[in-house]
Amino acid sequence: MSKTKRAYKYRLYPTDEQRRILAQTFGCCRYVYNWGLSTRKTAYFHHGQKLAYHDLSAMLPSLKKEYPWLSEVSSVPIQQSLRHLDRAYKNFFEGRAKYPTFKKRRNTQSATYASNAFTWENGQLTLAKMDEPLAITFHRALPKGCKPSSVTVSKDGANRYFVSMLVEEEIHQLPVTGSQVGLDLGLKSMVILSTGEAVGNPRYYAKDEKRLAKAQRRHAKKKKGSKNREKARRKVARVHARIQDRRRDYQQKLSTRIIRENQVICVESLAVKNMVQNHSLAKAISDVGWGEFVRQLQYKSQWYARTLITIDRWYPSSKTCHDCKHVVEDLPLDVRQWVCPQCGVWHDRDSNAAKNILAEGLSVAACGGGVRPARAKARAGNPQRSRKARLREREAPAL
Ligand SMILES: [Zn+2]
Repeated sequence: MSKTKRAYKYRLYPTDEQRRILAQTFGCCRYVYNWGLSTRKTAYFHHGQKLAYHDLSAMLPSLKKEYPWLSEVSSVPIQQSLRHLDRAYKNFFEGRAKYPTFKKRRNTQSATYASNAFTWENGQLTLAKMDEPLAITFHRALPKGCKPSSVTVSKDGANRYFVSMLVEEEIHQLPVTGSQVGLDLGLKSMVILSTGEAVGNPRYYAKDEKRLAKAQRRHAKKKKGSKNREKARRKVARVHARIQDRRRDYQQKLSTRIIRENQVICVESLAVKNMVQNHSLAKAISDVGWGEFVRQLQYKSQWYARTLITIDRWYPSSKTCHDCKHVVEDLPLDVRQWVCPQCGVWHDRDSNAAKNILAEGLSVAACGGGVRPARAKARAGNPQRSRKARLREREAPAL
């Protein structure tokens, strides 16, 4: 059994005084993050200098002298926000994220406290500069004997407070199973399993779209800067939060189920999916939430020692006949079923794709590829072709 870091997130109900301290801390963290970002940018673009975390950290004392209000809050979250900035840069350099952007007051606010800035006693959490422990609703208990190594307090657009506690715990392994599954991500159904099962796309955004539009209309009519406008803004944020919560809950349940039932899970990389530059589908694509779903599969497969295989490169999963590997030239998106011209087998578009993804994933895992058709090999192997040209020619994935 190995120890794994895991975050537990709870709703938090701060007192007025705690709200005040948190608001001040959020503000300072945001300020220092933005200061760090602009300092790094200026140093690089004007002087060709690359500043790292410790360079910025060394400048903090003079910044605090210049802006004494920064010293009114605990220094730990401020230091942490420079670490977050460093992480954001790392994610950018390693190709996981876009270039860091400035934090805005409107968005979710957060502050991270390392273990030297809070106390954890008898299940009660007290943050630095606060007299009373926080009122936290523990909807599920922290694992026994675990002490959080860091805690992050956040406030979302709907003015709800949360605390996320990072603990190191032993995760009990799931029993080993022999099942393997391929997943095709779609819009009509969120996931199509290679077993033929289609798991629904609950379309939470679409369901609440009217409710949201109504709240937004009301918000737009209120006078700028008025109390009623702020109230209406919060109402809009609440609808957004409701959509997000429900979607995430659904994804959690589904990803847990898939991890529980299967030892090997193959899924197409999202870079492939996102290549559908189809604006009329953009809303539906963000509503279905593939990105978060795959992220959950990733960390859960690590927790439970399952194998998650992502097929990164181009592979015509929809257009390949699973039975004879024949690749058809063209398969428009509205064709849901087709008959293979070579072997005459009838295919459901999505489950055929899911089966191909499973086969491709297993072959990638076994020998680093193999079932890719010759035509695709020639394309991928020609360095003369620009990346864009290759992207453009890729198959439109099944939606
Ligand atoms: Zn065939």
